[in-house]
Amino acid sequence: MQKNFEKPPLIWLNTLVFSITFAIAAIGVPLYAFTVGIGAEFWWVMFGTACFAGISITAGYHRLWAHRTYDANPVLRFLFAIGGAVALQNSALHWSSDHRVHHTHVDDNDKDPYSAKRGFWYSHIGWMLREYQASRYSDYDNVKDLQKDPIVMWQHKYYLPLTLFVNFGWPIAAGFMLGDVWAGLLVIGVLRLVLNHHTTFFINSLAHIWGKQPYTDKNTARDNGVLAFMTFGEGYHNYHHIFASDYRNGIRWWQFDPTKWLIRASSWFGLARNLKRSSPYQVERAKLQMQLKVARQKALSAPESLFEKAHEHYEQLGTQLREYYKARKKLLDSKAQDLKDHLNHDIDALKKQVDDMRESLAEQKRHWKALLNQIQQHA
Ligand SMILES: [Zn+2]
Ligand SMILES: [Zn+2]
Repeated sequence: MQKNFEKPPLIWLNTLVFSITFAIAAIGVPLYAFTVGIGAEFWWVMFGTACFAGISITAGYHRLWAHRTYDANPVLRFLFAIGGAVALQNSALHWSSDHRVHHTHVDDNDKDPYSAKRGFWYSHIGWMLREYQASRYSDYDNVKDLQKDPIVMWQHKYYLPLTLFVNFGWPIAAGFMLGDVWAGLLVIGVLRLVLNHHTTFFINSLAHIWGKQPYTDKNTARDNGVLAFMTFGEGYHNYHHIFASDYRNGIRWWQFDPTKWLIRASSWFGLARNLKRSSPYQVERAKLQMQLKVARQKALSAPESLFEKAHEHYEQLGTQLREYYKARKKLLDSKAQDLKDHLNHDIDALKKQVDDMRESLAEQKRHWKALLNQIQQHA
């Protein structure tokens, strides 16, 4: 831990922007609401603006540019560039460069720009308040691919005027149209910005502290449904850190991930394509491996024979999973081929085989759970 006198110098611009906007949101907005009053329409416009800016960060900065999990049409990229300016989180180029370093050196206190191992405050906001990594600040070596995107470079070049224009221009214009410019500036401008900031920052702080680790414990990232709700689906951060090239973070259909839904819907309209997904076999396998590891760590007094049995079962289940997903892919491919050629292949036999495999797999999974429970009893 660094001592006070060794701390790098403050970045005054960031410190002032964060503290002044926070003070206005926490004190100025309630004061104005109670003394002058703020109409419901302002809250609705604030909500819409916050969603536009927030999802530009998650679907644009994060999943499109930092991780290249899909390709987007220029219209969508332009909208994300504008939304990213509304969110005031630096240019997409800079943000993506930081984020790629975060993934490569996650939890490394010297290299990860927002290492969660340095605590909540540091990973949430502290890392932006001082010159912790001044030498790396304009090193864009790890985002050479993004430097070929004219929209990214346009946004990077004009980031300051752009962000000032949208962060003042839009709240003033909306306030003017709704009949109260001050309410527009306070609610749609400042309060919305503070909400956008801290919900995004939660992904670096809370999503590395609070939640479950179903896929890996090699880093601090956590899966957390509550956080997903506040961050447009980015709360499934444990999954994300191990399968970062997947356009989804919440992979089950019921998991709250509006970013995934937006990308998927955009692909129906030709605005997005080449959506990447991880192999379901790899995902399931990672989960099984983690379950076995946790059981071993917890149930120290369990007899070795139980673990031998579990290992054997794990291998069997792995093989069965691989076969099942192979057959399922064959079935899906045949169905697609049938649609294209109108051949009406006899895919019933294949379908029956996949159904049987699914049933047997479910049975094996029940055995697996029972075996894990047996081990847990020794915890
Ligand atoms: Zn990421
Ligand atoms: Zn992370």
